[in-house]
Amino acid sequence: MATRTLSLTDQIHAYLVSVSGPQSEAQRRLREETAKMPNSGMQISFEQGQFMALLVRLLKARKTLEIGVFTGYSSLVVAQALPEDGRIIACDVSEEYTSIARRHWEEAGVAHKIDLRLAPALETLDALLAEGQADTFDFAFIDADKSNYDAYYERALKLIHAGGLIAIDNTLWAGRVADTNVQDPDTQAMRAFNAKLHHDTRIHLSVVPIGDGLTLAMRRS
Ligand code: CA
Repeated sequence: MATRTLSLTDQIHAYLVSVSGPQSEAQRRLREETAKMPNSGMQISFEQGQFMALLVRLLKARKTLEIGVFTGYSSLVVAQALPEDGRIIACDVSEEYTSIARRHWEEAGVAHKIDLRLAPALETLDALLAEGQADTFDFAFIDADKSNYDAYYERALKLIHAGGLIAIDNTLWAGRVADTNVQDPDTQAMRAFNAKLHHDTRIHLSVVPIGDGLTLAMRRS
């Protein structure tokens, strides 16, 4: 029976959430506020956040990177999983969305762990590399504009150390990557990105069917 992943009905999903908790009070409040926004679908799911927090704990991560903050849920869950001296360098260009994020990080008492860089992420990543921060990050989460995924990935792969992990969101792209009739630029970019990682000998790879598809790439050496 279990030769492939279960398709989640609403009923199974509700059950999964009910036994996956608990969600922190700060996480619940941020989800509630974001749910009222028109593009709330950009927020990762509760179960994906919980999975990422567990990965961060397994890695014993202290220094992490986030590319694409939105209203700050993924950085909140990662920050709560980091030790007290842990740090996230968080990249985004939206003052509007990240002001919501900042408020919730403050309320949750994790704002001191998050260094928000309001600039195009490629500029921030190139600056980190120029400062000599290659091979120093434990974990990176990429969830931003899809056309730049490959550029973010290449820089993140330099910034994490061997054994470090990159998690990349939306790689199943609502199934559009599997449908050859869909040929818009974002879908083509995601398809090319997935194909590249499939052959990338620098990493250990797993494409996890959680949320909209979460690719895990662990740097080999
Ligand atoms: Ca996403």
